[in-house]
Amino acid sequence: MSPASPTLPRVNDFAAPVAQAPPDVPATGSAGEPAAEPAAEPAASDRPARGPSLSPSRAADFLTCPLLYRFRVIDRLPEPPSPAAARGTLVHAVLERLFDAPAPDRSPAAALALLGPEWDRLAAAEPELTSLFADETERAAWLAEARTMLERYFALEDPTRLEPAHRELAVEAVLDSGLRLHGYVDRLDVSPAGDLRVVDYKTGTAPRADFEARALFQMRFYALVLWLSRGVVPRLLQLMYLGNGEIVRYAPDEGDLRATQRKIEALWLAIERARAAGDWRPKRSRLCDWCAHQSICPEFGGTPPDLPSAHGAGQADRSGRPDGRVREADYGM
Ligand code: SF4
Repeated sequence: MSPASPTLPRVNDFAAPVAQAPPDVPATGSAGEPAAEPAAEPAASDRPARGPSLSPSRAADFLTCPLLYRFRVIDRLPEPPSPAAARGTLVHAVLERLFDAPAPDRSPAAALALLGPEWDRLAAAEPELTSLFADETERAAWLAEARTMLERYFALEDPTRLEPAHRELAVEAVLDSGLRLHGYVDRLDVSPAGDLRVVDYKTGTAPRADFEARALFQMRFYALVLWLSRGVVPRLLQLMYLGNGEIVRYAPDEGDLRATQRKIEALWLAIERARAAGDWRPKRSRLCDWCAHQSICPEFGGTPPDLPSAHGAGQADRSGRPDGRVREADYGM
């Protein structure tokens, strides 16, 4: 399945050998107005959150359900890890580590051999993960599915033929309004010609239309941030669905990214209005099936807690991906 435009670059454009570093590009500025100084590599994860900020995950939350956004950003309610989210974290961790090895050694066997150590590392960082499974049979089935996803990855791509420029890259850019956009890109490839390919691994299955729209919004968000911070429109956005072995590719252009920026700005305005009014409405959808907060959601007969006293304007969205922590489940299920 691919909604990509006919101007799609060939996949081989990104085959090894590739540049290890991005090309020199202008620094952060508004879309179409790159600043004059060369950009330093963003290190969003190293900096304290400041000012209003938004990640693609939280933007998608508000679009999905304003009350879910409130629970996650304003109330900061904990969400128990799920087996699906933990498996996604594990598979992502293995795929990140796989590229530590020299290209010829990136075999399916090498990837599978990383499963055990990476699981140990994740479980050490988050001990509650070990209680996700009722018994060893359940854990073995869960692990078998992670293995299958890694095998599917090798059917989609040959990692011996590419050299990612970045893995788990923290990216950020600040709009003229002061809103900081930030997020983590699973992988960024840079071709010898300087073209950027943004790669995201999805551990759900087939991307039904609404889930795919959510995933592509996330990818356009990243593409916008990269355009603003590097002055280069990514040539290709690539979603790799490891649950069913599909790839979705999309070639964005400046018009796409300007539209994405307008959408994000309008979305932020809506978030600020909801915050000012204290009006965070539930929006029931199929995604409620994955929501950890049904018991306090009016749509399911629950009552949300009182809003915390400090929920004023400009609150930062602190969503991030600190090393060793479980990722959110992607909804492509
Ligand atoms: S259960 Fe559904 S409607 Fe309620 S907060 Fe969660 S996503 Fe929103």
